[in-house]
This record gives sequence, C-alpha cells and structure tokens, in this order.
Amino acid sequence: MSKNQNKTGSYSFFNCIEKNFDKAARFISIEKGLLEQIKACNSVYRMHFPVKIGKEIKVIEAYRVQHSHHKLPCKGGIRYSMKVNQDEIMTLAALMTYKCAIVDVPFGGAKGGIKIDPQTISSENIEKITRRYTSELIKKNFIGPGIDVPAPDYGTGEREMSWIFDTFLSLRSGDVDALACVTGKPVSQGGVRGRKEATGLGVFYGIRELCHVKEDMYSVGLDVGLVGKKIIIQGLGNVGYHAASFFHESGAVIIALAEREGAIYNEKGLNVSKVFLHLKNNGSILNFPEAKNIENTEKALELECDILIPAALENVIHKNNANRIKAKIIGEAANGPITPEADEILDKKGVIIVPDIYLNAGGVTVSYFEWIKNLSHVRYGRMEKKFRENVNAEFLKVIETVCKKKISIEEKKMILRGPREIDLVRSGLEDTMINGFHKIRDLKKSLKIENMRTAAFVLSINKIIDSYEKLGIFP
Ligand code: GLU
Repeated sequence: MSKNQNKTGSYSFFNCIEKNFDKAARFISIEKGLLEQIKACNSVYRMHFPVKIGKEIKVIEAYRVQHSHHKLPCKGGIRYSMKVNQDEIMTLAALMTYKCAIVDVPFGGAKGGIKIDPQTISSENIEKITRRYTSELIKKNFIGPGIDVPAPDYGTGEREMSWIFDTFLSLRSGDVDALACVTGKPVSQGGVRGRKEATGLGVFYGIRELCHVKEDMYSVGLDVGLVGKKIIIQGLGNVGYHAASFFHESGAVIIALAEREGAIYNEKGLNVSKVFLHLKNNGSILNFPEAKNIENTEKALELECDILIPAALENVIHKNNANRIKAKIIGEAANGPITPEADEILDKKGVIIVPDIYLNAGGVTVSYFEWIKNLSHVRYGRMEKKFRENVNAEFLKVIETVCKKKISIEEKKMILRGPREIDLVRSGLEDTMINGFHKIRDLKKSLKIENMRTAAFVLSINKIIDSYEKLGIFP
C-alpha cells in the first residue's frame, strides 16, 4: 500500500490530487519545501449553524476552503450536495488553484460546500441556508472582492449567487465594489453575459482544438475535426447541458446522454434540444422516443464512442470500469472524474485524457471577466461598440470607392457590427482555451511528459512557483 492510500487501500480524493502533483514534481527542480507549500491547503473553515426549517431546528454542516493565497482573491464555486465533506472541498479547492494558474486567471484556489440536498428542500429554505452561510463567511472574513469570491458549482446557480451578493451588500452597505464579492450572478444583478454557458463552451473549445491536431488524432486512429465524432456525455447539469449543445451544433454526433436515473442511446445521434425539451416536460431523459433506454447509467460510459465527456461528479471512472471504457478521448468536464488507478489503466490503453484542471477552466475564466466588469463598473463593449461601428462604416466607404463595387446589405451588417459584451467574453474565452491547450501540449512534447494531465500540472506548478518567487517569500 502506498503512503497515499488509506486503510482500505483506496485513495482519499485529496490524496488523488497529491499523487498527480507528485508525478508532475518529477519534472520540476525546486526546493522541496516550496512544493510542499504549494500542495498544502492553507485554510479550512468548517462550520455548523442552525436553521429553522418548518417547526424544527436543523444543524447545517458547511465548508469554505482556501487552498492557496499566492494570488488574491481566492476563487471557487460553492456546491450543495449530501456528498459534501472536508476532503472533497479541500480537493476541489486545490484543483481551483491549478486551474486558475493554467489559464492565467490571477486567483488562488478555493471551494465551498453545504451538506444539503437542494432537490428536497424548498427554495425559501435554501435561501435561508444560503444567507446564513454567507453571513458566517462574512463574520470570519472569508468572503469579499479582494479576499475570496465564490461562484456556482454542483447544485447552485445564479439564484444562490444573487442571495449571496444581497446578504453581503446588506452587511457591507456602501462598499462600492460589493458586486465583485461573488460571480455567476444573473446579468441583471451585475453578472456578465456568457458566464452561464462558459464551462460547457470551454469544454467544447478545448476538445475542438485537440481534434484539429493531426498527430494526436492519428495516434488514436481518428480523423481530424469534430464533425461526425461520436460523443457520450454523462451529466446534464449546467456544464453537460451546454457542452452537449455546442458539440451538437458543431456537427458532432451525440450518441448517448446519461443522467442519474439512467441513460439514453441512439447510434445515429440524438437531437440534443429535443432531449432537453423531453427532460423538461417529463423530469427524466428516459423514454425519449428516438432512443433506447439504458437502465444502468454507469453502463453508458462503457459504450463504443470516440469521445467521452464525464460532466457530473468525481470518481465515476475507477479501477473497476476503466478497462471497459472504449472511448479514444476522455474530456474531463467534471472535477476529478477519473481516479489515479483508472488514469493508469487508461494511459496504458493509449486513451487521450484532457484533464479537468485545463478543460473545465472556462467557468472560472469568465468569472474573472465578471469580477473585472464589477470592479470597473462598466459593461464590456459599452465604450467602444459605437466607435468601432463608425470606424468600420468609414472603412467600408473607402473600400467601395476604391473597388468600385457595392457591398451587399448582409455583408455590411457583418462587417459594420461593433463588439457586444457576449462577443468579447466569448472571444476571450476561446483565446484562453486555445492558448492553454497549446501550452500544455508544447510542454508535454518538449519535456517528453507521459500525458496531458501531468503536463498540465507541470505548467501550473511552474506558474505558481514563479508567483511565489516574485513575491519574495522564497528568495
Ligand atoms: N465552480 C466552477 C469550477 O469548478 C467555477 C468556479 C468559479 O467561477 O469561480 O471551476
């Protein structure tokens, strides 16, 4: 049994990340103490607070973990789930640190969690719990635009972020930057356009980039490009839902979609928007008319396909099913969906794994854009949109005169248009995901690193070392 395994011989979630970190550390020559500092979780705040639900007082267990303070504020989502525990939140906070470094988002990693099942609690009570949790964070100075900035995660969304902001503002009234205390807010409450779909879109951009690399595609026996690639998506929350839509629109074939209650399968492809309509109307994806049901949802992961996207929770691919996975590419839209044992098995099979710390970084990237928007107090594009349109119009006039040719109204519309907020956010996200992919790939090649995950960790750790060195803490 290795030192990373617990008594039962399996790894704790935090140990899994330490194991990945240690693999990367082999490629970094730096003092051991600094590596230990980067690995460690700086602050863990575990709280219990009472909330009156109906006639009963319930004691709620909750966490906020700040993994690293090498850059401030700390950043990371808050999840609501009965599976929330300290080990999980510490691990997810650590992943946030590495994720932010890879995509050059200047934050330390954090994560929060409340141990509740939001599906069985009324929205009034979820609001009570969220507001109480926020005031606990405020009391301990664990939230604020320059301290620690939460965001949505599993089981939370815009609604919860609005309550967090409102609670923060009521206790810090007059703070002109209060909007930046949380991201993932609705646009009408200071959110940024494009945040909701950002993680799913980032997953799409990352996989699309990989599919355009001839050498990588040939190495797994696939053709270049996304069109026609057979994809399975597990988890239809915010991330899986948007990723599925973008893949479908781009011409990839979604052959299976898996949810908690089961999966649906059609070899010829599922019409994603029709499936979502069916889900909305029936509360389940099962019995979709144009597909076969798969009762055991885990079996969906093992179907023949080109790309598998786990987009739900951690540890869904483990040593007992890894050998049966037939995908040639796995894109980790979820955090930590593959255990270290499964990772090794899949590596040996030659599967390309696009790691979570890169692939699902689109969410925090656009959170960063939202935070900047909140601090600058102006919508993206507000200052330059009209100016751009005027310059473009002048430019068109010159072209028409020089070429002695009239440009069609449709073409004009396209060329004249100045950038809106959504255009700028998406272009920033696309650029970030493309750059991130090539930085990891180039490092993997130049240092002859065995896989993308280890290369992503090396890239990330090197950036964190650089910040520590510039801070002067480690001369
Ligand atoms: N919860 C998301 C993640 O795991 C987003 C975090 C954020 O935007 O701060 O990356």
